[in-house]
Amino acid sequence: MRWETQAATHVDDDALPGLEERSSVLESWPTPGFDGMSFLEITAKSALNHVAGDGFMGGAWTINPYRGCQHACRYCFARNTHTYLDLDAGADFDSRIVVKANLVDVLERELAGPRRDVDAVQLGTNTDPYQRAEGRYRLMPGVLRALARHGASISILTKGTLLRRDLPLLQSIARDVPVSIAMSIAIFDDELQQEVEPGTPTTRSRLETVRAVREAGLDCAVFAMPILPGLTDTREHLERAFAAIAEAGATSAIASALHLRPGAREWYLEWLRAEHPELLPLYDRVYRDARGRFGSYAHPDYRSWLRDRIRPLQRRYGLGRTVVAPGTGISAVAPSNRAKQLPSTSGEPMLAAATLF
Ligand code: SF4
Repeated sequence: MRWETQAATHVDDDALPGLEERSSVLESWPTPGFDGMSFLEITAKSALNHVAGDGFMGGAWTINPYRGCQHACRYCFARNTHTYLDLDAGADFDSRIVVKANLVDVLERELAGPRRDVDAVQLGTNTDPYQRAEGRYRLMPGVLRALARHGASISILTKGTLLRRDLPLLQSIARDVPVSIAMSIAIFDDELQQEVEPGTPTTRSRLETVRAVREAGLDCAVFAMPILPGLTDTREHLERAFAAIAEAGATSAIASALHLRPGAREWYLEWLRAEHPELLPLYDRVYRDARGRFGSYAHPDYRSWLRDRIRPLQRRYGLGRTVVAPGTGISAVAPSNRAKQLPSTSGEPMLAAATLF
C-alpha cells in the first residue's frame, strides 16, 4: 500500500491522535464509485485514543478509523476536528475523508505493548466506522479481530448499514468478548432525513439493520437522537419513531436534544436559515442564554420538557429503563447491550458514546 513508503519527518504536537505525522498525508484522488469524494490515506501513529475523565463520558478507549464522514449530517459535532488538517468543517468534512490506512497494524502493535491494559473499546464515538469509505478500505474486520484476540469488549455506534457485512464476524466474536451494538436513527420523516443527513442510509434500511442484528442473536440499542427542536420533537414524530424502533426489535432506545457545538452550529443553522427560517426564534429561545450567547446545549427547560415526552414512550414500548445523564440531561436507558448468551452489563459504554455522537 502506498502509505508504507511514506517517511514521517514532521510531528505536529497539536494534531489529533493519529494525525501527528502530517507529512504522511498523501495526495487525495477521486475514486470510482465515490463521485465527489476523495480519500487522504495517512500513516497513523496511534490507533487507540483515551478519553480522559470519569463519569458519563470519561475513561473510555476509542478508535476512529476515519476523520470526516460521508454521512454528512448537518448537526455532526465532529465537524470541527477536520480543521486540524486545514480542511473545513463543512463540505470538506463530508467529502474529503482521512483514512488511517495502517490502523490494524498499529492497533496490534499497541495491544501487544504499551496498551496491554485496554479492556474495553468504543467505535463510533467521533466519526462513523461504517461510513461508505469502510466499504472500500475494510478496516473494521481487522480492528474487531484484533480487539477480540486481546479480550477487549467492543461497543459500536453507527448509522451505517454496512455493519451487516460484519454480522457473522460479530456473532462469532460475541462468544468470546462482550459486544454492544447501537444504531443511530434520528429522523422518521424521509424527506427531512435526506435534507439533514444527506449521505446516510435511509431510516427504513437502518431499521432493517437493527432487525438483522437482533436476528443474529445480538442486542441492538437505537440512539433516536439528536431530537431537532421544532422538527422532530412533536408527539406525532416521537410516537412514530418509538413505534418503529420497537417494531424493528430494538433492545432499547435513548434520545436527547440536539447539541449545537461550534462547527456543527454554523453548518446546521445555515441550513435552518435557508429551509426553516420560521424556526430561528425557537432556536434562539432554546440555545441562547440570558446574555444572548448561543450555547452548545439546549436550555434545561427544553430538555426537561423533552424528557417528559420521551419517558412515557420508552416505558410504553418496553425500550428500557430511563436514566438521566448528569450535565446533558439526556434521557436514556441502560440495557444489557450484549450478546444474548453473555451475562448482562450496566450498558455504560453505550451511554458514554451517547454523549459524543
Ligand atoms: S453524526 Fe455520525 S454519521 Fe453523521 S456525519 Fe457525524 S460521524 Fe457521520
